[in-house]
Amino acid sequence: MKAIRVTAFGGPDVLRVEEVPTPTPGPGEVLVHIHASGVNPVETYIRAGKYARLPELPYTPGNDGAGVVQQLGADVSELKSGDRVYTAGSISGTYAEFALCKKEQVHPLPANVSFAQGAVMGTPYATAYRGLFQRAVAEPGETVLVHGASGGVGTAAVQLARARGLRVFGTAGSNEGLKLVREQGAHEVFDHRVPEHFELIMKATGGHGVDVIVEMLANVNLGKDLPILAKGGRVIIIGSRAPVEINPRDTMQRDADVRGMILPNTPPTQMASIHAALVAGLENGTLRPVIGKEFPLDEAAQAHQAVMAPGAMGKIVLVADKN
Ligand code: NAP
Repeated sequence: MKAIRVTAFGGPDVLRVEEVPTPTPGPGEVLVHIHASGVNPVETYIRAGKYARLPELPYTPGNDGAGVVQQLGADVSELKSGDRVYTAGSISGTYAEFALCKKEQVHPLPANVSFAQGAVMGTPYATAYRGLFQRAVAEPGETVLVHGASGGVGTAAVQLARARGLRVFGTAGSNEGLKLVREQGAHEVFDHRVPEHFELIMKATGGHGVDVIVEMLANVNLGKDLPILAKGGRVIIIGSRAPVEINPRDTMQRDADVRGMILPNTPPTQMASIHAALVAGLENGTLRPVIGKEFPLDEAAQAHQAVMAPGAMGKIVLVADKN
């Protein structure tokens, strides 16, 4: 099969297509014929060798994919060959024509959802769901600010929060991004290029403050997030790329919480619950993943450059085969 292989950590050009043996599923495993794979910022940090957990070289990147079941391990009875599925994790990597997965990493992909859209569920939607509902415990009727709402996690968070009955504010850094965020269901949108957007957000809450902030770039925003929190407010840190200074008093006055998360810390039962909710949301049309750009598998290097560029418009996917 064709697969992207990384033989040394480095820039995007270390992502090269090679012919490698197609894996065979063992007990508890599933081989998925990948039609689309999701490209996430974390895969660029790993590729560069700048991440806490690094794979052994050589490796094939990717946790997120969608396609059809090709082959099952002898003891796997929950799925059958030809089933449409998405993956949330993979043993062999999803930037490839086929990906070996544990059966728990494979979830049904409803017929109304494209493979490209399915490739968005494993990391962005699961992260948005966990951040909003399991870590920040966002409740219907509360106000949530999705700070960085135009990207993969952000568009997912806006759709999820709106469907759950929250009042949703979202930010983006381009006019197209702001339009996109509104289309996903945000009640109000703000431009994070404008320094006064914090004051504008506070004003939009009528001075009450925001109950939950889903933060994609904490190193830039955390110090200014805290003063716009309501009493009992929570910031959930999803993305941060450097240290940041805060005034701890801003948390004291509000009984506020700053909570962090990384998706791999999710306990298995909570992960199963996340995907049960996400599959239901896909089935009933509440969740409509937005695909910003598609690249063929052999342009993985360009996809890695695009995912780190400003002006996000939903999700970037690699297409290994025609949908
Ligand atoms: P993405 O698709 O590249 O989107 C990045 C988002 O950040 C865009 O909406 C972008 O907006 C926004 N942004 C840029 N400057 C900003 C600013 N000053 N303030 C607020 N937002 C700003 O990436 P993603 O997949 O959504 O991931 C977002 C972040 O979360 C990344 O750092 C990623 O590594 C991290 N992440 C963490 C986990 C976890 O488990 N903790 C899981 C998934 C992702 P514009 O482009 O419109 O300016």
